[in-house]
Amino acid sequence: MVEIQEMTDTSVFGQIAEHQHEQVVFCHDHETGLRAIIGIHNTVLGPALGGTRMWHYASDMEALNDVLRLSRGMTYKAAISGLNLGGGKAVIIGDQTMKTEALLRKFGRFVKNLNGKYITAEDVNMTTKDMEYIRMETKHVAGLPESMGGSGDPSPVTAFGTYMGMKAAAKKAFGSDSLAGKRIAVQGVGHVGTYLLEYLQKEGAQLVVTDYYEDRALEAAARFGARAVGLDEIYDQEVDIYSPCALGATINDNTIDRLKCRVIAGCANNQLKSENVHGPALVERGIVYAPDFLINAGGLINVYSEVVGGSRQTALTQTEKIYDYTTQVLNKAEQEQSHPQAAAIRQAEERIASLGKVKSTY
Ligand code: NAD
Repeated sequence: MVEIQEMTDTSVFGQIAEHQHEQVVFCHDHETGLRAIIGIHNTVLGPALGGTRMWHYASDMEALNDVLRLSRGMTYKAAISGLNLGGGKAVIIGDQTMKTEALLRKFGRFVKNLNGKYITAEDVNMTTKDMEYIRMETKHVAGLPESMGGSGDPSPVTAFGTYMGMKAAAKKAFGSDSLAGKRIAVQGVGHVGTYLLEYLQKEGAQLVVTDYYEDRALEAAARFGARAVGLDEIYDQEVDIYSPCALGATINDNTIDRLKCRVIAGCANNQLKSENVHGPALVERGIVYAPDFLINAGGLINVYSEVVGGSRQTALTQTEKIYDYTTQVLNKAEQEQSHPQAAAIRQAEERIASLGKVKSTY
């Protein structure tokens, strides 16, 4: 399976089968109100690592679909980055008001019961404090703050990897990986976006920025000598590179014809609204797309360094390789007359398949 398929079978096992998960754990606790799902997609390369997200899902099936999709993405991200990790993710169903110490610790017990097959971390709507509670019940927690012996904020490493991926894509599109004088539009100047702007400014790029919070965009503009534009205007900029660093699905039917760039390289997850539609559409338009899960893997690489006892420096050294991996994937896509996202998924699957054979003997 290479391309993401539309759901044809909406039963629980139908969905699990379509995403090809190894194990899905439904966690329920009457006392605390905990309802959570842990998705373990693939552990051929190592323990399934991925964050826990808390979200007020409209339905249980929506939660299941989210955890299946996200954990599958983690498998590919780890595999293509050369990590010995599998893919997993967890969702806790509910809003912030339901969050109690007891609920989080109960969830930690469920993670503990998996004996290290799943390692959790922080994700949307989870805080460091929440992770501390989970850590009280299980040691299988990563991405903790440095004060707790963890690897700390992953954003600078994610930004470095995104920068490496962007340079590799620029080399493909323009024949040089220098970003000096390149016009670059950065959508979202949050944690990663801001660190990325530092690299881009240092190289002498001409920057355009936007953010949901206007004051953030203006602050970034002042700090990095960028031009701030409105939220929707970002798609119409005359730029060489568009860098989505805010939300997913910004490359869609409404935006694709407005983009004037030759390269897309950003840190946001799931940038293509539909991989099967918008991946090939970018190729048709002559736009080089640096696969999101490949170039934003720096954060995961940073967490991995914590799991295997490495340092921030080892994480950065490993993250630098994103340049070479991106080049390989872009060349592979060209050779296979495919699009980069599909080529990246195929490359990840090939690594899992070949290492699965290595592990087949005791
Ligand atoms: P963040 O929340 O710090 O920053 C996101 C920024 O985007 C915020 O400033 C927000 O106001 C802005 N934003 C929201 N909606 C917007 C819109 N419609 N248009 C423009 N700006 C908008 O998040 P982050 O940690 O910087 O992560 C950015 C993206 O990268 C997310 O999609 C995240 O999932 C992904 N990512 C982050 C990491 C990491 O290490 N932090 C790792 C991998 C992937």
